[in-house]
Parts: sequence; structure tokens; C-alpha cells
Amino acid sequence: MQKKKGIAILGSTGSIGTQALEVIEVYPEQFDLQVITANKNADLLIKQAIKHQPNIVVIADESLFDKVRDALSNEDIHVYAGSKALSQVVMGDEIDVVLTAMMGYAGLEPTLSAIHAKKNIALANKETLVVAGELITKLAYENGVNIYPVDSEHSAIFQCLTGEFQNKIEKIYLTASGGPFRGFSAEELQKVTKAQALNHPNWEMGAKITIDSASMMNKGLEVIEAKWLFNIHPDQIDVIVHPQSIVHSLVQFEDGSMKAQMGLPDMKLPIQYALTYPNRLKTDFPRFNFMDYPELTFEKVDTKVFTNLQLAYDVLREGGTAACGLNASNEIAVDAFLKEQISFVDIFRINTEIVERIENVQKPQLEDYIAIDELARKEAKNFIKNLS
Ligand code: NDP
Repeated sequence: MQKKKGIAILGSTGSIGTQALEVIEVYPEQFDLQVITANKNADLLIKQAIKHQPNIVVIADESLFDKVRDALSNEDIHVYAGSKALSQVVMGDEIDVVLTAMMGYAGLEPTLSAIHAKKNIALANKETLVVAGELITKLAYENGVNIYPVDSEHSAIFQCLTGEFQNKIEKIYLTASGGPFRGFSAEELQKVTKAQALNHPNWEMGAKITIDSASMMNKGLEVIEAKWLFNIHPDQIDVIVHPQSIVHSLVQFEDGSMKAQMGLPDMKLPIQYALTYPNRLKTDFPRFNFMDYPELTFEKVDTKVFTNLQLAYDVLREGGTAACGLNASNEIAVDAFLKEQISFVDIFRINTEIVERIENVQKPQLEDYIAIDELARKEAKNFIKNLS
């Protein structure tokens, strides 16, 4: 019998993490859940641990350690706390794949640690590749580690490339739903609220990525992610708005042929594919019905309004630590917007300003990424203080 795949889920209490647990639950003969982790949501982590019986749980917020340990004292589960523990637990012998479903820059160090331990990565945490794509892909190559994309667009590209690895990509088209503010003018964006920004038309996701989707930063981060995953030039990546979110992305080959991956929007499919590649497992997910979608439509993005997307292309072309600075600035700006300290359009202003201010270190090492991340966060916070 085939050995079960040992899985670690970093960020099991989030949107991707909970859906990953649903996938794993359906195929007990395929998966062996080794690790689950959360930042602060101890209650859900405890529930998940009791239900799914992993070998290890980690709560990043150390003040919640006693609570989690006490609640799990009758279970055969090891409990650890702190962000250092996240980097340690991914190295366990029984782990084959680490699903990085944490939010933001915090995913970088555990991902690096997993790569050093030669664990394959199912990558949802796109910020890791945005911050340090050059370093991550180099280390993955050196350690013989595969990075399987979880993001639906990148999973689509990956699925289109299966069986085509010797053929050159001419272009990648990343599709974007356009989010809640599709077609808005710069003036209209001035007045939008947090509730509107959190109301994504097609996907239910964590708060940060939902705001990024509304501001098109998410698509910008995905452009950078695509560059590193598929080793292509920024000029070969195009973004096209497709409000129905049925075509998840497309590849165009050198002979002009285009392949698309399609289906109803459901993150469980790309999560599952990343965990089972190259195999596909039978699912009972709802199937697409052409008659429900008589029209699939495509539009251009207005990068003069959604400047975050242009900014992402700019930092990608600049290389070095430029994208790391943008990511840090954006994390601070989105956090401030969610706390209702700034307006939606301030996110664009802050990102533009911070990218301009922060020096760009070429050929960066890990220390450079850490330093630039810290600096950009500080600058962004100062900028926000001066806004109010
Ligand atoms: P959520 O906010 O729903 O969940 C984030 C998870 O990470 C939670 O388990 C959270 O713990 C944990 N976490 C947050 N901050 C830290 C930290 N500092 N240290 C340790 N753990 C932390 O996010 P999503 O699931 O929506 O997104 C996760 C990642 O996947 C992001 O990078 C996103 O861009 C990417 N992604 C998400 C998609 C989606 O459909 N949701 C689609 C494609 C990509 P706690 O619950 O305790 O806060």
C-alpha cells in the first residue's frame, strides 16, 4: 500500500487552512495530518486538534500556550507556542508537504525552514514569494523541493503546463474578478467603505486578501508570484478582468495555442491538486453548467485607477528588495484600513510613497529582506501617523 502523505498546515484556522482540513478529511487513506497551527484563534485550533488528531499543534501567540495545552491535555498531541516553533515543527521526519496558509510576511521563515528540511511546499502564502522570490526559488532548486501553487490562478497555469514542461511559455494571462470595485473611477473609490471592500463578489477569503482583491494589490502580488513560480519575464504576464471567475487563468505557448483551466470558483480544488499532484482525486464539488453562464466576459484593468497593479509590475522590474518593501507597506496599509484609521485610497498613496522612499538592495540575502521589511513597515506607520 502507498504511504500516506504527511501534511503540515501552517495557518489551519484561516480560510485556506479550514478548507484544507475539509479536503484532508475526505481522504483519510491519502493523508496523515501531522501539524496544524494558528496565530491567536486558540478556540478553533483546539476544536480542530480534537477533531483531526494531528501529531503537533502550534499557537504562535505564546500567551495562549497554557490555554491550548490544558484543553488538549487528554489528547495524544504535542503542543508548542511561539513563532520559532512554527519553523521547527515543519522539519519533522513524517512531513512530506507543508501547506503555507498563513497570512503575510510571517510565512517567510517557516517556509525557508521547510525548504531547508527538503519538504515540498503547497504554497498559498503568496507574500513569501513576493518578498523573497529570488531566494526561495534558488533554495528550492538547490534542495530539490517542489513548490505547488495553491492560488487558483497559479494552480490553473500549473495545470495547463502539465505535460508541457519542455515547451516555452509565450505569455501567461492571469484572470481577475475585478473585485467589488470593478469599473470604479478614482473619484468613486474615494468614498468606498470597509464593509464594501470586504464584500467580494465571487470568493470568501480572509480579510487581508479580500482587501487586496478590492485594491488590485492581490493581482499585483500574483504577477510577482507568477514570475517566480514559472520563471518568466514580467512582460510575459498579462492581467485580464474576468468577472465570472470561471476561467482561472491561461497559458499561451510559442505556437500561439492557448490553454485555460476552468471551473466554478472553489479553493478546495487547487488546494487538493497541490496536495495530490500529479494525481486527481474524485470529488463531489458542484460541476460547471454552461447554461448558467451563457456569457464569459473579459475586460482591461485600469492601472491609472488601480495603481497598486502598476506598482507591482514596477517593483518586479526593479528586482532586488523592491517587492519586499511594497509588500511590507501594503500589509501595514491594509491593517490600518481594516482598523478604519485610513481611507481605501490611502492604501494606494501609502504604497506608492513607501516604494519611492525605500532603498532597493540588489542581490539580497535573507538579512536584507528582513531589514527592508522592518524599514518599510516603520516608514508606512510614520506616513499613516502624518495622514491623520
Ligand atoms: P486568513 O486570514 O483567513 O488566515 C490566516 C491564517 O494564518 C490563520 O490561521 C491565522 O491564525 C494565521 N496567521 C495569521 N498571522 C499569523 C502570524 N503572524 N503567525 C502565525 N500565524 C498567523 O487568510 P487566508 O486563508 O485567506 O489566506 C492565507 C494565505 O493564503 C494568504 O497569503 C493569502 O494571500 C493566500 N491565499 C488565500 C486565498 C483564499 O481563498 N483565502 C486564495 C489564494 C491565496 P489566526 O486564525 O489565529 O489569526
